[in-house]
Amino acid sequence: MSDKYAVIGNPIAHSKSPLIHHAFAKESDQSIAYTAELIPLDGIEAGLDTLQQKGFKGLNVTVPFKEQVWQSLTDKSERATLAGAVNTIVFNDDGSRYGDNTDGVGLCLDLTQNHGIDLANKRILLLGAGGAARGVIQPLLAFQPAQLTIANRTLSKAQTLAALFNHLGPIRASGFEQLTDNFDLIINATSASLQGDVPPIPSATISSQTFCYDMMYSSTDTAFIQWAKKHQAAKTSDGLGMLVEQAAESFRLWRGSKPNTQTVIDLLRQ
Ligand code: NDP
Repeated sequence: MSDKYAVIGNPIAHSKSPLIHHAFAKESDQSIAYTAELIPLDGIEAGLDTLQQKGFKGLNVTVPFKEQVWQSLTDKSERATLAGAVNTIVFNDDGSRYGDNTDGVGLCLDLTQNHGIDLANKRILLLGAGGAARGVIQPLLAFQPAQLTIANRTLSKAQTLAALFNHLGPIRASGFEQLTDNFDLIINATSASLQGDVPPIPSATISSQTFCYDMMYSSTDTAFIQWAKKHQAAKTSDGLGMLVEQAAESFRLWRGSKPNTQTVIDLLRQ
């Protein structure tokens, strides 16, 4: 019988994770069963117990459970501990549970390997201070950028994150309108694109050398990517590669080997 995995969330029907993980398994000649499981909003603990009892080997965790799972697991990776959220659970054979967060490494792999960006000494602007932003700060700082600026609508949240990660590298907080410099890389980790909005940052943040990355993915240009193109950004990308790369890192944790991601990114782009 194939090993069983699932993504849990609420809602969950839209998830691309089953497609991605089955593609990884096929590409690496393995057999897995990967499903999307809807968990009641007040039922995360019971949901984890049930899936573990049913013999699942691991789970991906998505909105709105990442922080709750982080709180419930005692055995976690350092990157998950710093991220304040868990997106991957390993159910060990001895019945124990291990939590990790692969979102940050997923973003960095997409930027560095798929887009060929050298993050060292770069001036990076991270828009947003929610769960997605927090999860990528430590992995970004590990590449030793010249500066990481976190800008958020609610300034106090950006300040809290800057204080939390201050010991790991050069990081500062800002409001959107107060930004004056231009950046080598702008990453949109706000959920503004979901409503077709763009954070109100000055166009002076973009130069003809700037790479603009939206964590949200879409078959058409997101509002942020439209804005970046209008202001002559050097290059733009949505977050589909991040989605596939974070999934590949989860797959590696469960299966011991990293799948080929480019073929799966190409498949999803079709
Ligand atoms: P959260 O709800 O935790 O945070 C939302 C953030 O967006 C906050 O900083 C909030 O600011 C800001 N925001 C919301 N609306 C606006 C607006 N209209 N203008 C300016 N700022 C706004 O969400 P997440 O961090 O979990 O997710 C953020 C995005 O990242 C989503 O689009 C999600 O789809 C994407 N994502 C993509 C992944 C991938 O694999 N590609 C993985 C994870 C997330 P404030 O604090 O002021 O409320």
